[in-house]
Amino acid sequence: MRKALNFNRQLAEFHSTIFAEMSALAVATSSVNLGQGFPDSDGPHEIADAAIEAIRAGHNQYPPGPGIPELRRAVASHQLRYYGIEVDSEKEVLITAGATEAVCAAMVGLCNLGDEVVLFEPFYDSYAASVAIAGATRKVVSLKGARFEFDPSDLEKVISDRTKVILLNTPHNPTGKVFTPQELSAIAKVAVENDLLVVVDEVYEHLVFEGMHFPISTLPGMRDRTLTISSAAKSFSFTGWKVGWATGPAPLVAATRSAKQFMTYVNAAPFQHAISYALDNAELFTEQVRRPMEDQRNRLVEGLNRLGFSTFPTSGTYFVVSDLGGSSGSSAARFCVELANLAQVVAIPVSAFYHDQTKDKGQIRWTFCKRPEVIEEALQRLTDHRDQMKARAF
Ligand code: PMP
Ligand code: GLN
Repeated sequence: MRKALNFNRQLAEFHSTIFAEMSALAVATSSVNLGQGFPDSDGPHEIADAAIEAIRAGHNQYPPGPGIPELRRAVASHQLRYYGIEVDSEKEVLITAGATEAVCAAMVGLCNLGDEVVLFEPFYDSYAASVAIAGATRKVVSLKGARFEFDPSDLEKVISDRTKVILLNTPHNPTGKVFTPQELSAIAKVAVENDLLVVVDEVYEHLVFEGMHFPISTLPGMRDRTLTISSAAKSFSFTGWKVGWATGPAPLVAATRSAKQFMTYVNAAPFQHAISYALDNAELFTEQVRRPMEDQRNRLVEGLNRLGFSTFPTSGTYFVVSDLGGSSGSSAARFCVELANLAQVVAIPVSAFYHDQTKDKGQIRWTFCKRPEVIEEALQRLTDHRDQMKARAF
């Protein structure tokens, strides 16, 4: 069996996701789960009703390969209304099984073996796995300091003849950073000068609390080289429906579709109908999701700071990162396991979002996409165990 059990080495380091691991720990320890980012209440009931109606109306067989025309048109209209971006719903929109599939299919479709993909570190966990599945190589640029900024010269330094794609995420998981137009211009400049593609994951585009989400594809020279990815999961609080999309120039969308059609072929027929309704009414529904999320962010951030977990500024997403104090030996990974056992609260060590996962910077990601009473319960548990936690980590 030695030969038979010698599995795909590219994937050897990705045997499980930290999110599933920590959610399992939350169940095992009866913890409040502020780890994995999924809301604990459903999105607007009108959207759920639209999905039920779609099932009853018989939209239950394979939808068309690129997605149902209504949803492709709704995605195109959304891009135009919010950002002034014109996309042809026939050739420049692809519906995917969530943003996760869109990212993976983009890497497989756009990269050749040995091409290099640049990631900003810390990065969302599926990116490294998607790059590996594509047989490409990842290169990383660090986001540094309290505002998780990057040095444009660090970006220039990792570019080589083999660089194909810059894979970017804004608003950013895990930090809650919203890249500024200036930062995006610096990235665009490098992309244009070196003839690179940019794949940008904008799943948190409607969860911005300060400043504004800015699409990099609107910058000069970027339209033809940017594939933009988003998803219904966060904007409408239906993470389990797995409806995502990729928009951009026809050749990039076609390449992504070539991969997607042999991964899932198609997905989520009735939910595609419901999300086309949601996107057509995005002005109403995204506010219904964003407003309480902002209150929950404030509640968690204030509570954590009161308890002495110093938090980094977060302007968007579901997440806030706090610092264990940077004292040597303050391992976030160890602390998170102890926290679950001691206080019954689960958070995620930010080390899981680093290229070298042993590089533990003593940072923890907490999610605030939970009901206020759940956040209060977590804060109460942390308060009750404050002294023991301090003895371990601060
Ligand atoms: N990208 C980022 C940055 C995320 O945080 C997530 C997590 N939901 C995803 C992609 C995955 O999105 P989806 O559920 O639509 O696959
Ligand atoms: N995006 C969510 C997070 O960052 C988790 C989604 C998943 O588990 N794949 O927590």
